[in-house]
Amino acid sequence: MSDRAPAVTTAAAGATVPTVDALRLHDRDYARGLQEIADGVFAYLQPDGGWCLSNAGLVRVGGESLLVDTLTDLPRTRTMLDTMAPITATAPIRRLAITHGNLDHYYGNQLVDGAEIIASRATADDIADGPTPASMQAMLHTDLGAELNGFLRHAFGSFDWTGITVTPPTRTFEDRLDLDVGGTPVELIEVGPAHTHGDTICHLPDRRIVFTGDILFVHGTPIVWAGPFANWYRACDTLLGLHADVYVPGHGPLTDRRGVETVRAYLDHVHREARLRFDAGMSSLDATFDIDLGAFADLGDAERLAINVVAAYREFDPSGDEPTDLLELLRRMAALRNRTHRGRRGGAATEPQNRMHP
Ligand SMILES: [Zn+2]
Repeated sequence: MSDRAPAVTTAAAGATVPTVDALRLHDRDYARGLQEIADGVFAYLQPDGGWCLSNAGLVRVGGESLLVDTLTDLPRTRTMLDTMAPITATAPIRRLAITHGNLDHYYGNQLVDGAEIIASRATADDIADGPTPASMQAMLHTDLGAELNGFLRHAFGSFDWTGITVTPPTRTFEDRLDLDVGGTPVELIEVGPAHTHGDTICHLPDRRIVFTGDILFVHGTPIVWAGPFANWYRACDTLLGLHADVYVPGHGPLTDRRGVETVRAYLDHVHREARLRFDAGMSSLDATFDIDLGAFADLGDAERLAINVVAAYREFDPSGDEPTDLLELLRRMAALRNRTHRGRRGGAATEPQNRMHP
C-alpha cells in the first residue's frame, strides 16, 4: 500500500492545533450542579461529560425562565429541577428549548410541567425517530457478546430508563427563532445538520453567552451522527463569529473560543485522515483502526472515531455500503475502545498502524 500512499502531511505529525491543556481554564469550576455564568444565566453541568452526561442551561429574567435541554433520565432531571427550584419558584419555566434530538438532551422533558417545548423541525423529526426507553432497556438486557455488552454497560448502564415518556416539541421552527425572556433577547439558531439533523445553538447576545448543544464537546470526542463535516465547520465558524465570552458545551466544562477551535481541528483531522485511507482503497473499518489521533488521542470517548470515519466515508461515496445499523456502529466503537484500553494497560493491544504515514 505504501507505494500508493499520497504524500500528505497531517496534524498527527505535529501541526499546530489548540492543545487539550489550553482548554483547562474553566476546569476549576467543573463540578456537578448549577453555576451562575452571568446575571440570571446558569449552566447545569454533569462531569465528566462522557456518554449521556450532558449539560443544560437556565435563563431567568424578569419573572420567567427558559430552560435549555433536559437530561438523560428522570432522576437526574428531577435533581436538576430541584436544584433550580429556588431560582424558578418566582420565575416559572414557561419555555424549554431543545438543542438537538439526542436522548440525553430531551428524555427528561415530561418533568417540565406546562412548558412550551421548542425545537427545530429537524430535531422534532430526530426525536420522533429516536430510540425508545424500552429499546434502550432491551439493548442493555440482551446478550450481544462480551465486548459489546461491556461497552453498553459502560456508556448507558448507569442511567434509569424507566418511567420515561418521550415528550416531543410543541413548537417547531426552521433556521432561526427569536425569543424574548423577560426582556432579554434569546436567539435560537439552527446550524445542523452536523452532529444531528437539527442542531440548534442558543445565543444570548447581550450576555455574550452561547449554549451550543453538542456542536461542542469539551475534553470529549465529537461524534458525527449526521454530518456533513462541512456543516459542522460552518457551525463552528458561526459560534466563533458570535464572539461570545462563554460557550456552554453540550458535554464538558465551560469554554471560550479555544474549545470551538479544538472541535473544528479534531473534525478536520479525522476527515483528512479518513480521506487518505478512502483514496487508498482501505475499508472504513480498517481506517478506524489505522488512524492515529495524534493531539486528540486524550479526548474522552475516543472510540467515537469509529462513527466519524463511517460518516466521512458516507460523504466520500454516498452510494457505498457503509453500515447504518446502530448495533454494528456500537460494535465498532466497543472494539476500538477495547483495543485502546488494552493498549493503555500494556497488554497485547496494538497501537494505530498509521499505514498511510510510515
Ligand atoms: Zn449529548
